[in-house]
Amino acid sequence: MFQPQQSALIVVDVQNGFTPGGNLAVANSDQIIPTINSLAQHFDNVVLTQDWHPQDHISFFENHPGKSAYETIELAYGRQVLWPSHCVQGTHDADFHPELNIPKAQLIIRKGFHPHIDSYSAFLEADHRTSTGLAGYLRERGIRDVFIVGIATDFCVAWTAIDAAKLGFNSYVVSDATKGIDLNGSLQHAWQEMLAQGVKRIYAKELMNLRHSAQTI
Ligand code: ZN
Repeated sequence: MFQPQQSALIVVDVQNGFTPGGNLAVANSDQIIPTINSLAQHFDNVVLTQDWHPQDHISFFENHPGKSAYETIELAYGRQVLWPSHCVQGTHDADFHPELNIPKAQLIIRKGFHPHIDSYSAFLEADHRTSTGLAGYLRERGIRDVFIVGIATDFCVAWTAIDAAKLGFNSYVVSDATKGIDLNGSLQHAWQEMLAQGVKRIYAKELMNLRHSAQTI
């Protein structure tokens, strides 16, 4: 049952950098924005996340001489994909996409600002230890169910959804309100991992129906 007071929509990284024309553009990712805007109207609690890197960030291949984009390297916290420089703090690339229209959003979580740690998840950075504080924020507001949308399905959305489940939230990914990068089969792998960790896959229409049935009681 959808309980508006106990539910939050988490909108992951709908930024210029991850949409067509951006430095790490995900194909067709701008197409999910109207769905996200309309879903947000049905939530009392909306959180936006924003990838927010310093120029010398460890995830940028340009900061590793001799490496190319999309190669992986081993870091103390595990394997790291090297991305093209993206979403640098204060740049147009890091701004929210101009069509994202959720003025009611109450919190913006910026992540990836530590130079030596990447952060796909909105809850924990890639070392799986450094907290963003989001879990505490949601718990103090009585949130139990989190619905996750945005970019990219197989990286920041998946890691956020899995951490939400591990942290004790009921974690849902609204499949048709996300877009994936799909690097070497990463999209299918991410879905397998999410479902194995207890994340539930739903569609925008199902979520609207849940919302409407909650309103009529
Ligand atoms: Zn990033």
